Amino acid sequence: MIHTLGADLPTHLWIGGTPRAASNGATFAVRDPATETVLTEVADATPEDGLLALDAAVASRDEWASTPPRERAEILRSAFEVVHARADEFARVITLEMGKPLAEAHTEVGYGAEFLRWFAEEAVRIGGRTGTAPAGKGRILVTKEPVGPVLAVTPWNFPLAMATRKIGPALAAGCPIVVKPACETPLTILLLGEVFAEAGLPQGVLSVVPTTDPAALTAPLIVDPRLRKLTFTGSTGVGKQLLRQSADRLLRTSLELGGNAPFLVFEDADIDAAVEGAVAAKMRNGGEACTAANRFHVAASVVDEFAEKLTTRFAGLRLGHGLDAGTDVGPLITHKQRSAVDELVRDALDRGARLRTGGVVPEGPGAFYPPTVLDSVPSDARLLREEIFGPVAAITTFEKEDEAVEAANRTEYGLAAYFYTRDLARAQRVSRALQVGMVGINRGIISDAAAPFGGVKESGFGREGGTEGIAEYLDTKYSAL
Ligand code: NAD
Repeated sequence: MIHTLGADLPTHLWIGGTPRAASNGATFAVRDPATETVLTEVADATPEDGLLALDAAVASRDEWASTPPRERAEILRSAFEVVHARADEFARVITLEMGKPLAEAHTEVGYGAEFLRWFAEEAVRIGGRTGTAPAGKGRILVTKEPVGPVLAVTPWNFPLAMATRKIGPALAAGCPIVVKPACETPLTILLLGEVFAEAGLPQGVLSVVPTTDPAALTAPLIVDPRLRKLTFTGSTGVGKQLLRQSADRLLRTSLELGGNAPFLVFEDADIDAAVEGAVAAKMRNGGEACTAANRFHVAASVVDEFAEKLTTRFAGLRLGHGLDAGTDVGPLITHKQRSAVDELVRDALDRGARLRTGGVVPEGPGAFYPPTVLDSVPSDARLLREEIFGPVAAITTFEKEDEAVEAANRTEYGLAAYFYTRDLARAQRVSRALQVGMVGINRGIISDAAAPFGGVKESGFGREGGTEGIAEYLDTKYSAL
């Protein structure tokens, strides 16, 4: 069945609070990944449009920076309320352009909106400190200043939440922001532009510039001395490229990059709870999450029970259109993404892994891929090293705790890790030893607007959410008194 968008969704660029066509009049098609039908055409921003958005941000910078924090907070709070009031509309748009089941889209709307409420609350708590110089010759006054105009580049997998966790703290800190969403999913953020206008955000402070040529749009902004901060969520490869471009002018950057999360199940774990946690950690967003569990390392004494129960759960999940009742798993975002996932599965099978369920590309439109469980995965299989970004669980076994920790850390990534155990001392030991930014202990879902989200190693740097999130948009200034 073909589903259609509501007629009055914004499809123009949102430049400083005004809808505009692209400077060359170009548009591009946004498709429903489940049916591949065109949902609508959206204005395709040119590099000139990107610069216009930066002009608008620069023009609003001083006024927004000096707007009282309480007023900034109230605008954010009111945007939070408008998103909730329009939750059905947001969820439907997310499902249509990204593919996830409607219930998950609703969860994303709640999670995404929460960053607006959380940072509304943080806006009025931007602190500083004073101290007496140790030599007794005066006082030290430390204040926090907004860093200035921000460029945010966001991915398609959580179209709303990946943007609000940048927009929320930037606005709270007093920074104007230009958002370049992924071209697969521009509609959600264009709708958010409208929400902020309704919430009373002054002209110029927020722009949204979708484009099919992201490198052409972002490069001139990154070298523009008026831009003061780049915040990026996406793949490690593109993140490194943007970091190299930023290095020339020492532009401040935060990079939320790829992951390759291990999921450890110790012999003393509650296996049923571990299976439920594994389903959540793997299948949320159809596996298209940077925090998705990639590698399941399971104690040899419990691997059969775990693998059998996980296989039963995965085999019972229904693939379908995200708007259809009863759908558990939507399509992957593109055919390219599906081919990449399938190649990783074929590679593991060629090397001797065993297929327990899934692994067969279905016929028909949409990049659907079935929930797949592989066990006895050999250590040289590519899917143990590379981010899968799809509904595939790869199981290997271990005998001892240190072997499990060593396997977990055997990756250049360091975003999230999960483990299940009933032993408190082990929980503390393993949590300390894991080289990641975030750990789920007997939990398969860890994201929370009140917690610092981010990674170590090649998963990037910077934190989003929590009390840490706003610091990314503030400079520290010391005045001697
Ligand atoms: P991607 O890197 O291809 O794209 C991310 C964004 O960068 C998009 O807006 C895209 O248009 C833009 N982009 C692509 N090439 C660019 C270039 N040369 N110059 C400027 N911008 C460019 O990633 P993706 O496929 O959209 O997203 C999936 C990746 O994002 C995965 O690796 C995933 O792990 C990661 N991710 C990380 C987090 C996190 O918080 N750590 C969250 C979600 C997704």
